[in-house]
Amino acid sequence: MSQSLLYHAFGVREGYDYVETLYQDGCIRFVLSVRPEWVVCPACGSQEVNRKGRRFRELRTVPIGLKPVFLVTEVPKCQCARCGKRFEVSPPLPRRMSATRTGSKALSTDCAG
Ligand SMILES: [Zn+2]
Repeated sequence: MSQSLLYHAFGVREGYDYVETLYQDGCIRFVLSVRPEWVVCPACGSQEVNRKGRRFRELRTVPIGLKPVFLVTEVPKCQCARCGKRFEVSPPLPRRMSATRTGSKALSTDCAG
């Protein structure tokens, strides 16, 4: 598992680092943490930020074989050391990805032979 697999398989482009993979309940979970450079005060732009805890978001993504796969992303809760603003950091994640195409084209294809 690598950063490039995150990118290519799941469309996670930036903002997250891969942490670990959990195998539980017949599911696969890839745990991601927010990269330090994304932890910046939205009010004043300071990087002097104190972490006050965190929560996790879970996003279902493309399955591997028959196993459901989730991206579990850390959402740090922070407070700016300079201006005191409290905020959470959650870099954008890809929308649910689906490789299946249900479309107008398929059924009208002429397959006479
Ligand atoms: Zn600030």
